[in-house]
Amino acid sequence: MSRIDDIIKQLEDIASNPKKAIEDYEKETGKGAVGIMPVYAPEELVHATGYLPIGMWGGQKQISKARAYLPAFACSIMQTVMEMEVEGVYDGLKAVLFSVPCDTLKCLSQKWKGTSPVIVFTHPQNRVIEGANDFLVQEYEIIKGKLESILGVKITDEALNKSIDVYNENRSVMREFCDVVAEYPQIITPKLRHAVIKARFFMEKSRHTALVQELIAEIKKAPVAPWTGKKVILTGIMAEPNEVLDIFKEEGFAVVADDLAQESRQFRVDVPNGATPLARLAKWWQNFYGCALATDVKKVRGQMLIDMAKKYDADAVIVCMMKFCDPEEFDYPVYYREFEDAGIKNLMIEIDLEAQSFEQLKTRIQSFGEIL
Ligand code: SF4
Repeated sequence: MSRIDDIIKQLEDIASNPKKAIEDYEKETGKGAVGIMPVYAPEELVHATGYLPIGMWGGQKQISKARAYLPAFACSIMQTVMEMEVEGVYDGLKAVLFSVPCDTLKCLSQKWKGTSPVIVFTHPQNRVIEGANDFLVQEYEIIKGKLESILGVKITDEALNKSIDVYNENRSVMREFCDVVAEYPQIITPKLRHAVIKARFFMEKSRHTALVQELIAEIKKAPVAPWTGKKVILTGIMAEPNEVLDIFKEEGFAVVADDLAQESRQFRVDVPNGATPLARLAKWWQNFYGCALATDVKKVRGQMLIDMAKKYDADAVIVCMMKFCDPEEFDYPVYYREFEDAGIKNLMIEIDLEAQSFEQLKTRIQSFGEIL
């Protein structure tokens, strides 16, 4: 097995078995994990306590018990999170951090069925005025106080600044990873690319950074070969389940960049410098653009995607529309019109973690490939 295969296997194993990753972390450090609900949260506050922040993005699963608590039209990320809550999957978490940027997350934060304590906070949707920033600093003060009291740990400014550095380094390395693998689609398939990115939700970030840095160095040793298939950019919340990514591979599509909330949106902007670590974390929210969950009156997402398509010489943008995700659905008509005006080829596919059959999706992607 080559070193590339070896590193990818390690990351794939972690991405597909978060439970084991948490148990290993507990054994090694004596500390447990804190759940981070999608989509954005100041994970650095958890990292600074020495506990492991883990992403809670649901999973491929059939829903039965969750139906008693959520309407059928809630998105499948939240349906599967609720299903696992009811099954007690999250009961070992020391706490769960909850941002509430959409109605479904608001409902779920009030209907938590697990036994772990829940810390709910709000990102201000006015992201321009200084008062909104002050409000978010106050929210983060409250989270910090609650984490300290639940975990019995003091979060110092020094520890928090250090964690911000660790996260900023990971963000920078992940941006480099995405750019490098765009040149090597023969080696890094869409599914492997996703696994490397997803593993960061279940690993202490400096460890993830070190492995990805080594992976980048190994990949770069290989010669860049011409790609005869199509190059695409993914946008949306996520592009799971893995069957979707397998179809891209089978149909000769390389993912050369993404604008997925679960992937590049997590690391495309660094936490800036600032007077205090909490002010720095809050300012990140005001510096972040191009996401349906961060109100933007100028609606820059379409132009961002058009610029990305040019930068990466992409043949098309594929919109991975999470079924029943209102915020993403509201954005779509705006940037769809911009794509059409700019001549950017695009396809919208539906993402559903409960999906069992992928034949229809395969046919659509196949036909789209032929059109391209
Ligand atoms: S996928 Fe959409 S609807 Fe579901 S939690 Fe995320 S933002 Fe809310």
